[in-house]
Amino acid sequence: MLFPVLSACMSGGGFGRAARPASGGGFGRGGARPAAARKPPPSLEAVAARFRNRLPASECEPCACGSGLGYAACCQPYHAGGASPESPERCLQARFSAFAYRLPLPLIATTHRENRDYREDRVAWARALDREGMFDGFEFARLSFTATLRPRGGGEEVSFSERSRFLRGGSGWLYASGEVTAEEGGTVLN
Ligand SMILES: [Zn+2]
Repeated sequence: MLFPVLSACMSGGGFGRAARPASGGGFGRGGARPAAARKPPPSLEAVAARFRNRLPASECEPCACGSGLGYAACCQPYHAGGASPESPERCLQARFSAFAYRLPLPLIATTHRENRDYREDRVAWARALDREGMFDGFEFARLSFTATLRPRGGGEEVSFSERSRFLRGGSGWLYASGEVTAEEGGTVLN
């Protein structure tokens, strides 16, 4: 599966503190201990911040999507949340580089609800990406009409083409689904 992913919103909404149960009373237990304070669930941003990203040391380094532009002039605005992809190509580029740099939020933000990887619980989604979905065994070598991944630690490159479907979302283009149409070098990434 190529560029799996999620959809944004990062809302968060406050996790209200669970109301304290009415004190225990009864059975002569003196001053009931306050119920163990429930830790509020972490926000999506907090979970994402713990990701080991692979951002370039300098924003002027060539962007991982292969456009030839520096990262700051290319995909960074889409990753920083200030820009929404204005075309399917832009969406694909930004997703490719987000995988390369290990950035879950842009992936989540550009996944259409219709995508099979879409999850309402974005925190759980981000955690799942961290554990299993970021293709950590590969470098994202280049994006052209086919995507080419090179196993870290050596081995044959894997190239594949994907028929991708993008849908226009509220503010930009979102990745809806993809189907691998051809691959070379073995492994089907799915
Ligand atoms: Zn780029």
